[in-house]
Amino acid sequence: MAKIELDLLENATDSLNEALTKYTEGKNGNLKAFKFAILHFSHFFELLLKYYVSESHPLLIYKNPFSKKIEKENTIGIWDAVQFLKNEGHGVSKQFEDDLRWFKELRNDIEHHKFSLDVEEAKSTLGRLMQTINEFNETVASFELKDHVDKELISEFEILADEYKAKVAQAIEDAEKIGGVENGYYCSCCGIAGTMSLTDGVYKCHFCNEECDEVECSVCGINIPEYEGQIWNDDHPPHVDYICDSCVYRIAHM
Ligand SMILES: [Zn+2]
Ligand SMILES: [Zn+2]
Repeated sequence: MAKIELDLLENATDSLNEALTKYTEGKNGNLKAFKFAILHFSHFFELLLKYYVSESHPLLIYKNPFSKKIEKENTIGIWDAVQFLKNEGHGVSKQFEDDLRWFKELRNDIEHHKFSLDVEEAKSTLGRLMQTINEFNETVASFELKDHVDKELISEFEILADEYKAKVAQAIEDAEKIGGVENGYYCSCCGIAGTMSLTDGVYKCHFCNEECDEVECSVCGINIPEYEGQIWNDDHPPHVDYICDSCVYRIAHM
C-alpha cells in the first residue's frame, strides 16, 4: 500500500516543478507557458491534498475503502480531500477554499479553451494558495515542500510561497513600472532595494509606502530624497539647503 503514498507525493512534486518552470517562462508575458503553469499547479494542489489524506491511511484515497475490489474503486476528488482534512480538525480557511475553487474553474476554462485570463489576478490568487499550502504543509507533513523543489526553481518557489518575499517582489515590479530611479536604489525607510520610484519630484517606496520629496544637494547638485539629506543651512526659512551624505563625508575628510 505504501507505494500509493510515494507515487502521490512524487507526482505532486513533479507537477510543482513543472508548474514552476512554466510559471518562470509565463509570468513575463508568455501566455501559453502561463496557461500550462496553471494546469500543473492545479494538478499539484490536488495531488498534494490527496497525499495528506493518504497519510492517515493509504486506503482512504479510495471513495470506498471497504470495497472487495479495491483496485477498481474510484479515488477521491480534491473536495473530498479538503473535507477530510477539515474533519480531521485541520484549519482550512474560507479564503483558501475560495481561491482553490477560483483556480479550479480557471483550469477548467483553460482545458475547454474558453477563457479570458486576468494574469495579475491569477498571479495573486496563486500566491495566496502557495503561501497557504506551504504553511499547511509545515503543520501536517514531516517534510518541507522546498526540499522537493529543483535547485534552479527554489527562488521562484520562495517568492510565491513566502508572503513577505511575494510582497517585496510585487513592490519591485510596481516600482519598475513607474521608474525614475536607478535600478536597485533602496528605501532608507524599510531598507529594501529596488522598491523606490520617482515621479514629479516625489519618491515613493512601493513596499512600505513611504513618500518623500526630492531635494537637491546644495554642494554637488545631485537630487536625493529629503530624508537622506542633512540640513546644511536653514537660516532663511522657508528655504532650506540640503547636503548629501557623500558631500558631508568629503568635507569632513578634507
Ligand atoms: Zn520602504
Ligand atoms: Zn552632494
